[in-house]
Amino acid sequence: MNRIRLLSEQVANQIAAGEVIERPASVVKELVENSLDALAARVTVEIQAGGRSLIRVVDEGAGMSRDDALLCLERHATSKIRRAEDLAAIATMGFRGEALPSIASVSRFTLTTRERDTDSPEGTQIVISGGKILEVKAAGSAPGTSVEVRQLFFNLPARRKFLRSEETESAHIQHYLTLAALAFPEVAFTFQKDGRLLWQLPALQTGQDTAVRLSTLRERLRALHGEEQKLLPVNFSAQLPAAEAPEDDPFSPSTPNSQPSTLFRLWGFIGAPGVSRATREDQRLFVNRRPVENRGLNFALLEGYHTALMKGRYPVCCLFLEIDPAAVDVNIHPSKREVKFHREADVRRLVAQAVRQTLLDFHGGEPKVPPAAPGPMPKVVEPLPLASSGLPVEAGPAAEQTALPNFPHALSPPVAAELSKPATQQPALRMGFRSTPSVQMTEPASSTQPAPRLGPPGELSPITQPASSVVHPAAPVARQPSVGGAVPLLNVPLRLVGVISKLYVVLESDRGLVLLDQHAAHERILFEQMLNRLEQNDQAPSQRLLLPETVELSARDANFLREQLPALTRLGVGLSEFGERTFLLDALPPFVKASEPRRFVLELVDELKAVGQEVNSARLGEQTVAKTVCRHAVKANDPLAGAELENLVEELRHCAMPYTCPHGRPTLIEMNFRELEKKFGRIQ
Ligand code: ADP
Ligand code: MG
Repeated sequence: MNRIRLLSEQVANQIAAGEVIERPASVVKELVENSLDALAARVTVEIQAGGRSLIRVVDEGAGMSRDDALLCLERHATSKIRRAEDLAAIATMGFRGEALPSIASVSRFTLTTRERDTDSPEGTQIVISGGKILEVKAAGSAPGTSVEVRQLFFNLPARRKFLRSEETESAHIQHYLTLAALAFPEVAFTFQKDGRLLWQLPALQTGQDTAVRLSTLRERLRALHGEEQKLLPVNFSAQLPAAEAPEDDPFSPSTPNSQPSTLFRLWGFIGAPGVSRATREDQRLFVNRRPVENRGLNFALLEGYHTALMKGRYPVCCLFLEIDPAAVDVNIHPSKREVKFHREADVRRLVAQAVRQTLLDFHGGEPKVPPAAPGPMPKVVEPLPLASSGLPVEAGPAAEQTALPNFPHALSPPVAAELSKPATQQPALRMGFRSTPSVQMTEPASSTQPAPRLGPPGELSPITQPASSVVHPAAPVARQPSVGGAVPLLNVPLRLVGVISKLYVVLESDRGLVLLDQHAAHERILFEQMLNRLEQNDQAPSQRLLLPETVELSARDANFLREQLPALTRLGVGLSEFGERTFLLDALPPFVKASEPRRFVLELVDELKAVGQEVNSARLGEQTVAKTVCRHAVKANDPLAGAELENLVEELRHCAMPYTCPHGRPTLIEMNFRELEKKFGRIQ
């Protein structure tokens, strides 16, 4: 018979290490988190050979007394919680009291520490090897704590064998440190790798004010990543309904349930429309400053971006969610990478709403060109009336009180705001076009001129202005404000230059060259027109097909489609049942041509199915139909002339999300003068 034995402390620690300490980066994470919990103002991390041979973390934090230093190496020894109830509202990074003994059991470990708030110059040093204490002695040291971990897994050859290359392991370490540095900008971080200084990030002033925190975060981002991506500030708060205490939740009795709701804050940066990555690598999410992974949050981001993101692409973001610690469970994952929200659906809804609102405000929140009065020029693209309101935003209880502010002033360069003025000052000049960039700003008389005439479409039309007033090479450098994408492109005046390849519209602004994809722009406009119709509960316009087509589907697809028929009809897609698995397609919205009706219908079915799996918002079904329908709009390669092009740009300006087509592809590309000068070798 097997006999049950109590494992020795050492074996127990090694088992715990198996869970918590996966690789060198886990050690760095645990040690740095301890330093942050000890309120260190400075943390220095040094690694050698990807952390295999050395990890040293030195902090200027609270430090420990000799007794505490000995105690902290015991399993389940922590200063951060006392009672089981405390687990329900964790406000520190650590709480399990597991990390130090685990690390010490699988490495050669030296802890040197001295209490910050005592007069004694003496500290304590403890040397441990594979969990065995070798030495405890008094040691002179600076206030704070230093932990040195050498030869990780030296006593577990199997684990050591599973470590990846030095580069891979240091990449993991650097990844974690980046997250820590972003979450704690008030802490100075130094990172040394194989004797080389990689980072020296100064401590930054920060505070409660979100505008300050945003600019501090931006500074950290810049220090870590250099050249900045186009980012939009997010500043959103709402009330989160209080968690219902589930009966099987052992921690719930202590959760104060008297408050009806708690504060939910989301702030940070998200990529502007068109900024995305093929992986989630640049998607950084923090909950109460802890970097986390959470499927619900991932979906919420995708849902928030929706049509502003291409399929298979991921948002770029650095977002901090602040929420009552009692509303989130951080004790569900060995290394606390995953968290669970008590009100997952509400959190998800609010995050999606914050993202969407930020994207909408990016275009709509800034001063815009006033809606064009019915002008003298005929509109060739027969437009449906465009409501200037945004896309439908899910109305939640918090929606009203969470109207987002625009860019914090600190982040919105005053020069940039100036740039958009000329357009608003020239009501007679429709669409914000100016025939000469400099003259019209000062001469109101010229604003009555018609917009510049263009040559025949399909070729690059000449600039209709004297050559002397063409942007000359020396000027841009001085004039070019370092806007960093802060002022939306469609809020600065654009001047039509011409069209190339019957598709790309060439424009210029005071910032440089702008290219517009005529087809993508048209898709976006149609898409929003359809959605606006839906919002007003109208039936979208529909045209009967001369030759109705029948489409036969599989039994499953047919069943699925049957349920979508009313929505499709409202969107102008005339589909009706024509047998068990057969449907009759007899009408489509204007501009839409389904040359292969079966493929068109199947595409609709697939897109709708995909939405059903991924997101749970009712709106998205309709949006998906509209998206698919718009893809079949035939507008590319239709030569458009000057006035029509201007209408196109103007209609785009009135869209809620004008910078991407409904599938997330960009409608506009900007190359500023700096980039042009770089390309021409004028500057480095
Ligand atoms: P936990 O962080 O979950 O409490 P650890 O094993 O990581 O568990 O640390 C145990 C205890 O040691 C902590 O609760 C803290 O009191 C103390 N400690 C660890 N690292 C430091 C440090 N760098 N500075 C001050 N105290 C520390
Ligand atoms: Mg810890």
